[in-house]
Amino acid sequence: MSTIFALSSGAPPAAIAVVRISGANAALALRQLAGRLPVPRRAVTATLRDDTGLDLDRALVLWLPGPHTATGEDCAELHLHGGRAVVAAVERALLTIAGLRRAEPGEFTRRAFLNGKIDLAEAEGLADLLAAETEAQRRSAQAMAGGAFSRRVEDWRLRLLTLSAEVEAGLDFADDDDVASADCSTWNITPLRDELAGWLMRPRAEALREGYRVVLAGPPNAGKSTLFNALVEAEAAITSPLAGTTRDVVSRPVAIAGVPFLFLDTAGLRDDAPDLVERAGVTRARTELERADCVLWLGAPAECPVGAWQIAAQCDRHDHARVTARHRVSALTGEGLDDLRTDLVAAARQALPVPGEAALSERQHRLVSDAERALARTVDMRDPLLVAEELRLARVAFDSLLGRTTTEDMLDALFGRFCIGK
Ligand code: GDP
Repeated sequence: MSTIFALSSGAPPAAIAVVRISGANAALALRQLAGRLPVPRRAVTATLRDDTGLDLDRALVLWLPGPHTATGEDCAELHLHGGRAVVAAVERALLTIAGLRRAEPGEFTRRAFLNGKIDLAEAEGLADLLAAETEAQRRSAQAMAGGAFSRRVEDWRLRLLTLSAEVEAGLDFADDDDVASADCSTWNITPLRDELAGWLMRPRAEALREGYRVVLAGPPNAGKSTLFNALVEAEAAITSPLAGTTRDVVSRPVAIAGVPFLFLDTAGLRDDAPDLVERAGVTRARTELERADCVLWLGAPAECPVGAWQIAAQCDRHDHARVTARHRVSALTGEGLDDLRTDLVAAARQALPVPGEAALSERQHRLVSDAERALARTVDMRDPLLVAEELRLARVAFDSLLGRTTTEDMLDALFGRFCIGK
């Protein structure tokens, strides 16, 4: 396997740039650049030179022999002056060394996974941690990356193995006799199944990644765009007294009280939209209404979609009809906006994963669901042979959760989410 290197810190220019090297030729690379191999795990300064003897940088270098490293391989770190040209010169020098090449996105983490340093659930959590933008996302990703979910799956797996052993012991007795006589009442599969079902009921990780979707809807000129701007605290949508100004869906992710939201401003819903573009906007608006976690309805109460929050917008205007509404707001004066935000945060907290608790991604949800269904099928089974097979299927699902059985495609998709240098 080739030795990989990459800039692992942020884009230069920066105070310091960290270049990481991992693989069998890491020692060779360090010796060639720094002239010697430092004491393991001790930061030392060294002048880095290329193969012609040209000074490249005076840097802090670290020699980290495997297998007790992040990737499990021999590693080296070069802490350079963070200028663009410094980094480029060192990278050029590294490319001239035998067996070295630039790392692909996520390749360091992929090697850590392949060498058993982290399992798949932890790697998935790590990808989310790096992508986290809000406090709620960070805490949930940390729970995954820190192995909380992996330990839970290990526990499930162990309980499953015990159950399998019990069922298989029953198999021996049932061998020649009537299989129906096996005493299945002693296999206590229900608690594990109930626990899995509980996890399946939890809000999903994607909801946290994408944010709680709040769609503003209503007829043209209801004040949707103005309210949208007030909520996202930026001039993101065009407002105008002309009906049909918002022709497409404008979306903006924002964090309120550390909770991620995605606000969407839609085209005014009217059936007589004069041109094609606006009609397309109305169609998209209807699609968004279906995908929304919460709809703020700024139109007439009689037309309020089921489950939507009736909002009396522009409440500062005296010419506006008084309607019964969950919130009375004025985007202009700010009246009622704080109450609306508080209500939205409370609703989002209900719908999003609990901060600090691991939440399942779509892949994990599918696998836990596979396991739960396998256990559910054992309920009325009398034949230990069939029960044992279902338990085996559940175990396969748990193994996949931890990445004990994986496919290249799946790994490509996961590690492709990381940046280069991670
Ligand atoms: P949309 O078509 O539903 O997106 O409506 P807009 O946000 O473009 O608003 C339509 C008109 O109502 C604009 O002229 C806004 O300035 C005005 N408007 C919006 N919100 C308020 C409000 O809270 N108070 C007052 N007085 N006027 C508003």
